[in-house]
Amino acid sequence: MTPKLFNPGPVDVSPETFAAMSHTMIGHRGKDFEELYASLQPGLKEIFGTERPVFLSTSSAWGVMEGALRNLARKKVLCLCCGAFSDKWIDVAKKCGFEAEAIQVEWGEAIDPEIVRAKLSEGGFDTVTFIHSETSTGVLNDLAGICAVVKSFPDTILIADTVSSLSTIDIDMDKHGIDVCLAGVQKALALPPGLCVFAVSETAMERAKTIPNRGYYFDFIEFAKNDAANNTPTTPAISLLFGLQYILGEIAKEGFAARKARHAKTNAMIRAWGAKHGFQLFAPEGRRSFALTCFATPETLDLSAFIKALKTKHNFLINGGYGKIKGTTFRISNMGNETEATMQELIDALDDVLAAM
Ligand SMILES: *Cc1c(COP(=O)(O)O)cnc(C)c1O
Repeated sequence: MTPKLFNPGPVDVSPETFAAMSHTMIGHRGKDFEELYASLQPGLKEIFGTERPVFLSTSSAWGVMEGALRNLARKKVLCLCCGAFSDKWIDVAKKCGFEAEAIQVEWGEAIDPEIVRAKLSEGGFDTVTFIHSETSTGVLNDLAGICAVVKSFPDTILIADTVSSLSTIDIDMDKHGIDVCLAGVQKALALPPGLCVFAVSETAMERAKTIPNRGYYFDFIEFAKNDAANNTPTTPAISLLFGLQYILGEIAKEGFAARKARHAKTNAMIRAWGAKHGFQLFAPEGRRSFALTCFATPETLDLSAFIKALKTKHNFLINGGYGKIKGTTFRISNMGNETEATMQELIDALDDVLAAM
């Protein structure tokens, strides 16, 4: 049996979600699909904190991360880099042919909004890329602070990746003036991969209209046109949309406030487990994600043996670090459907394995 995933994405998918996904197939140009599409909107708008329509892209998050640049960047992009995912965005911007500069902080640190202000003051930037919860390091960046700074520079578009924060904490897209807010569904929404949900501000839609060569598959104008008819430009991953409908129903039943509180609680359990063993958190105090935890690997711990024993003995999978901090850090997810009870099972298993090492 493959292990249960406590890896920060993809995360464990419930049998109920898979059951919802096995709904009879429907055509996407018809009333049943329009109803399915429309039914997703209220729940998605709530977790994004937006009145804007939420578009459904059949792609992983990177499709929309690249697509947003191609729809919105004119010439020069500023990338806020603090880990594997945010660092990669500057390469993507360059591969799309844009001039791009980074504000690069050490992995494990958060982006200081005042440094962003100083950089944007140099002038010339028309687009900023930003990752709220940097999944590789467990850093939760200052969303409100960064948004306020970027918004103080007129005609500067802010693209925000909320892949591992959406639905675990407030995003408040409209309040903060985020222009593009996006998330892949295989992280905190606990669906199988293959779908990215995203919303685009009116300002960004106006900008997109002025950008030539937006391409077709990720063209925001096409998404908006189809959204007006409760549809998508191309055939979407319909089974995933049935899964999403189920998850949004679960969020409505639990309540968004309770869901956020649950993530805070289960995350605190993992932090407390680490503290008990003297494991240091990789992210700084006050800037730590509530969806996953990244620990610095102690020198005394044989990390690969630890992870392997957890898997062999208890069939749980945690992650041994990502990118250049593979091995020197390890990560545990509490995203999605995990409860105090399931996190306690994991903690008991972690303790059991540690005791035997
Ligand atoms: C997982 C992740 C991505 C990448 O998503 P893909 O589904 O591989 O495209 C991007 N950003 C963050 C913050 C992530 O955690």
